[in-house]
Amino acid sequence: MKKRILLLVLALAMVASAAALTACKKDEGDTADAVSSIRDRGVLNVGVKSDVPNFGLLNTETNEYVGMEIDLAKKLALEIFGDETKVKFTPVTAATRGPLLDTGDIDMVIATFTIKPERLESWNFSTPYYTDHVGILVKTDAGYKSLADLDGKSIGVAQAATSRDAIQAAADELGITVSFQEFASYPEIKAALDSKRVDAFSVDKSILSGYLDASVEILPDDFSPQDYGIATKLTNKELAAWVDDLVTTWLDDGTFAAWRANYPGI
Ligand code: GLU
Repeated sequence: MKKRILLLVLALAMVASAAALTACKKDEGDTADAVSSIRDRGVLNVGVKSDVPNFGLLNTETNEYVGMEIDLAKKLALEIFGDETKVKFTPVTAATRGPLLDTGDIDMVIATFTIKPERLESWNFSTPYYTDHVGILVKTDAGYKSLADLDGKSIGVAQAATSRDAIQAAADELGITVSFQEFASYPEIKAALDSKRVDAFSVDKSILSGYLDASVEILPDDFSPQDYGIATKLTNKELAAWVDDLVTTWLDDGTFAAWRANYPGI
């Protein structure tokens, strides 16, 4: 009888130690639970821009996304699956990217998303991987040379973007008055500029560069630095830590610098 109990205890101890070993393995490096669940799904879902040259641009002829943020997403897929093609891109806007993270439709946003203190209350952000500035696009024939020339004028901005606050602060400093019209998308602001419903179009310079044509120009002024970070759902701290670790590694080892060299526009 005693022998039987001893054997049972021994067997239980073996099962327990095997379980402990598995748990240990799970904690190692990139096998964090949040990453495992993406791996089990078989695809990484990333929200990206489709209209920002050098960052996230959809080539409508090939139906392929190109840009530094696309390279970054592919490299994360490579880390998870050993296959950079296992990433699904969802086009996002300034207004849709946060809600898409909240609902779980996408695992992360890599889409010119500026890190702001109030946004850190809603989402996790990685260490910044790029810094842009807010700029102003105007019709060349209007003759504006700087924000100071826009006293009394109307500026088109996107809903949920940082542009309005940035330009308002700069206008206050100059002692000029500007008004704003908010739009859901950048093509709508460009159309409003072309039809003179607004006098200027303001957003990050990277985004404005996608709307350049022979009739418009970007003013030389730089407003409010915009630090871009990878955003994840607020509750998913594990995924955020995993992403941040890789971003800092790739900033240190020259991976980001190599990507940037491929895009002379940035
Ligand atoms: N980067 C700015 C922001 O996060 C501009 C908007 C955008 O990224 O579309 O608000």
